[in-house]
Amino acid sequence: MMYVSTRDKSKKVTAAKAIAQGLAPDGGLFVPETIPAVSKAQLGDLCAMDYRARAVAIMEQYLEDFSREELIHYVTAAYGDNFDDKLIAPVKFLDDATGVLELYHGPTCAFKDMALQILPYLLTASLKKCGEERQVCILVATSGDTGKAALEGFADVKGTKIVVFYPRDGVSDVQKLQMTSQSGGNVFVSAVSGNFDDAQTGVKTIFGDADFAAKLTERGWFLSSANSINWGRLLPQIVYYFSAYCDFVNAGKLKLGDAMNFVVPTGNFGDILAGWYAKQMGLPVKTLVCASNANNVLTDFIRTGAYNKNRPFYTTTSPSMDILVSSNLERLLYCLSGDDKLVASYMEQLKTSGGYTVTEPLRQAVAKEFYAGCCDDARTADTIREVFQTQNYLMDTHTGVAWSVLEDYRKETGDKTPTAVLSTASPFKFCDSVLRALGEQTDAPGTVLLERLTEKTGVPAPSPLAALKIKTARFNGCVEKHAMMGVVDEFVK
Ligand SMILES: *Cc1c(COP(=O)(O)O)cnc(C)c1O
Repeated sequence: MMYVSTRDKSKKVTAAKAIAQGLAPDGGLFVPETIPAVSKAQLGDLCAMDYRARAVAIMEQYLEDFSREELIHYVTAAYGDNFDDKLIAPVKFLDDATGVLELYHGPTCAFKDMALQILPYLLTASLKKCGEERQVCILVATSGDTGKAALEGFADVKGTKIVVFYPRDGVSDVQKLQMTSQSGGNVFVSAVSGNFDDAQTGVKTIFGDADFAAKLTERGWFLSSANSINWGRLLPQIVYYFSAYCDFVNAGKLKLGDAMNFVVPTGNFGDILAGWYAKQMGLPVKTLVCASNANNVLTDFIRTGAYNKNRPFYTTTSPSMDILVSSNLERLLYCLSGDDKLVASYMEQLKTSGGYTVTEPLRQAVAKEFYAGCCDDARTADTIREVFQTQNYLMDTHTGVAWSVLEDYRKETGDKTPTAVLSTASPFKFCDSVLRALGEQTDAPGTVLLERLTEKTGVPAPSPLAALKIKTARFNGCVEKHAMMGVVDEFVK
């Protein structure tokens, strides 16, 4: 199977090339030319497998230039005892029609681990298959979750280095200590004075500097990104939709072949798009519910067909969803329209005027696949408290957004289809907001708040977070935006 760019479908590349390049040369995103099908019998077979075997069975259909042996090796290394639940992505049933798909049992306690634990294997193998002789330095600007997950994935991976920049005034205590205490001989972490935008702009400037790239090439290095536009990050996420479906069937909540719903707390549209791919492959899915926080640009788009990022940006208690440009939406628009020229023109309009309106048939095609809703911080907090008090289930703020939108969806449609809510972070990762939702004080350092949340709820903190108490920061530096390139220059030698 070959891959094409969403902005020019005439040039075809292999899976390895798509993963090695990340972004297509024309600025588009790589998508598989055709979507493989999974039959009902195959779905039944998946139900008897563990998570790792399910991952091989799904991923191998998209990776023709990789052998099954290679995939078994990656999957075994990526989804092992680095996860604190042997099911890897367990479903917790709260009632007969509702289960929470917990995607946060990896080493950094957020769902980014599901992809970033395996991406280093896919990427280094892809580079080798493409004959790339240089070594790769991963460069990341992060608002929190991606940076730590990328560090944990790439730490001590041969032939790679990783540099992470985070905004000094924009990550929680816990997130900061998670990053600055990172072990590994090939990692570097630095704060940037300013906000996430400053860090992001600085990284983009480094990527765009041709002289710097030439200098690194002379030293045998090149820069690459680990963000969610890479197909190698999207693909591993398709697996857990199949896995959750099988878990619903195995638990007797669903008959094989019957449809279920998924509710996804959405930012860059990567997670929910993986669910859409699963549905196209034949997974029986009725509705994909796209849940947003106060930054509800996707809610408006799915309801009206008009995408408009010219609006206020809100800093919310679910910061990983504070996004106004959802990059992976481009893949959906291409797949539904098949029209690369049209997609290229929408993306050009987005760049120049901050928005675009899709054609009526395309609007209808989007509306047929997704239900969209949003909720603010106050409602999210109420939901966290209510679900904890009535069902004794503790969820984080991102999951709280998804749960609230599910309540709205059910009220509006009366739909009783069994539904999985995707839980994307441990409540302890955002323990200050979760404590406040439960009516507690948060006037203490992050590591104290972790203990306070355990005292309040009886739920133990995941061990990687509990261990932060005895960790010390290795990286204490903070640079100005203009000095970021110098940091990379010093480190990549
Ligand atoms: C990244 C992230 C999201 C959003 O996922 P997208 O793939 O960007 O839509 C939601 N919740 C958490 C905790 C995240 O880290």
